[in-house]
Amino acid sequence: MELPRAPQRTTTGFAFSFVDRAIQEGLADRKFGPKEMAAVIEHFGTARPQCAYCGDEHVARWDHLVAVNCGGDTVLGNMVPACSRCDDSKRDVPFEEWMRSDAQHSPKSRRIPDLDQRIIRLHEYTARYAYSPRDAEERLGVAEREELTRLRQSLLALRKEIEQFLARCREHSQTS
Ligand SMILES: [Zn+2]
Repeated sequence: MELPRAPQRTTTGFAFSFVDRAIQEGLADRKFGPKEMAAVIEHFGTARPQCAYCGDEHVARWDHLVAVNCGGDTVLGNMVPACSRCDDSKRDVPFEEWMRSDAQHSPKSRRIPDLDQRIIRLHEYTARYAYSPRDAEERLGVAEREELTRLRQSLLALRKEIEQFLARCREHSQTS
């Protein structure tokens, strides 16, 4: 009988990357309701919603063209319908670079036939809503920027402390 793999250990680094994401999202713009969603579907012009990257009709998620970790906002012009395969494969890579890359499950490596057309349509989409991401820092005043730097330094110190603590505990449990 084949059993599923054991669950992966959640690393401290992985956990802290979610804190970073929460900070980025907290600073980013967010306006994406039913009206905006309808406008996206209308732009891509298919009868049924399709993955904007590969055309798969099993649309599972809304994906950020410019990733949250790179300052992307949850707004019209940056959100596209995506299948889970594309969303998981793309990660934080700029969409055109990823679509033409040999990454596992990228549209190129899956030989999606109308790749160029899809890329053009995506660029037209961001241009239509004049979307361009702003760096998190640019949104802040001087005092807020300093506070953000201070918070990030504290997070880094806390992360290191936790990692060292866990390493010590593991070492201890192996020798005793
Ligand atoms: Zn897809």
